[in-house]
Amino acid sequence: RNGSSGNRAVIIGLGRFGGSLALELARQRTDVLAIDSSPKLVDKYAEDLTHAVVADSTDEDALKQLGVHQFRRAVVAIGADLEASILTTSVLADFGIPNIWAKALSRQHARILERVGAHHVVLPEHDMGERVAHLVMGRMLDYI
Ligand code: ATP
Repeated sequence: RNGSSGNRAVIIGLGRFGGSLALELARQRTDVLAIDSSPKLVDKYAEDLTHAVVADSTDEDALKQLGVHQFRRAVVAIGADLEASILTTSVLADFGIPNIWAKALSRQHARILERVGAHHVVLPEHDMGERVAHLVMGRMLDYI
């Protein structure tokens, strides 16, 4: 639809973080390719996301078959499975995807993700804690 770039993104991992991210992007008319190894989760999102597929994101060939290497934006929303998070991020980096976002559960995890090629790392709990501190103190302007 948008050729090999345009308004589209790959989201890997449909847990709470990846799931709400994927839905919000879809709401904002981004063409989302969502991937999770759990058929149950993929089923859950199949209605709201046009492209939700079951695949193991550490499998480079599987990702290639899905055309992931042609995307310009990807988010690795795997947290608890450290090995899958790191391997997936490095496969995306090997593809040369120019905007890789990855979720980390700790500062150490974040460091590794940067080392293997993530361009942006988010630490949802840390980041949200900092933001809520501003809200609690009523400093809305700092937040915006
Ligand atoms: P959240 O806090 O966002 O709910 P989490 O931090 O607990 O999630 P995980 O449960 O580790 O994150 O991973 C999120 C999703 O990633 C899960 O739905 C899981 O099935 C998926 N996932 C894990 N490993 C792989 C993999 N190798 N390939 C595809 N999906 C995977």
